[in-house]
Amino acid sequence: MDKHITKLITQSAIKNVIIGLGATITHDYRKRDLTVVCLLDGSLIFTAHLLQQIKIPVNLYSLKVSSYEGKSSTGQLKYKTEDLIFCKNKDILLIDDILDSGLTLSTMVKEIKTAGAKSVRTCVLLDKQIDRQIKIEPDYKAFDIENEFVVGFGMDYNGLYRNLPYIGVLKDK
Ligand code: 5GP
Ligand code: MG
Repeated sequence: MDKHITKLITQSAIKNVIIGLGATITHDYRKRDLTVVCLLDGSLIFTAHLLQQIKIPVNLYSLKVSSYEGKSSTGQLKYKTEDLIFCKNKDILLIDDILDSGLTLSTMVKEIKTAGAKSVRTCVLLDKQIDRQIKIEPDYKAFDIENEFVVGFGMDYNGLYRNLPYIGVLKDK
């Protein structure tokens, strides 16, 4: 079926909020060695923009994690635990695109702690305002959104729309 996209958050609104978020993170981590963990593929674009606004030395690691097929979560998270050994004794800032059911963030926080991280905080571009399956709140977030399926700024529908410079709601025509 044909899809259509309604603009929800503009490119300039995203840019401005990320500047503020970067300043806060810069301040909070000024006395620590910051290691950013980017959950691929969804948070690739958000992480790229946010990193440029962090004004202290930062290490970057990326992890491939997936749970969504089409517009819904499979409830199963796919990733490789052995990829997490770099977390040992590090102050980790875990970055994801959307906090939805809470499964992705809570599972990865647990795994990163198990891998021996010194500390773990979370940062999301979007916090979906829903009654979450798993109770978890992000330490840092850019925007709250309603319970709608969004694409753009890194987020996809079946692999498409990640390249949109804004965030939009995807609907059937
Ligand atoms: P959770 O594990 O919290 O249910 O879901 C988090 C993941 O689901 C996100 O990292 C994202 O990949 C995907 N997701 C959740 N809601 C949306 C949405 O509205 N649009 C897109 N494109 N992905 C979503
Ligand atoms: Mg994701």
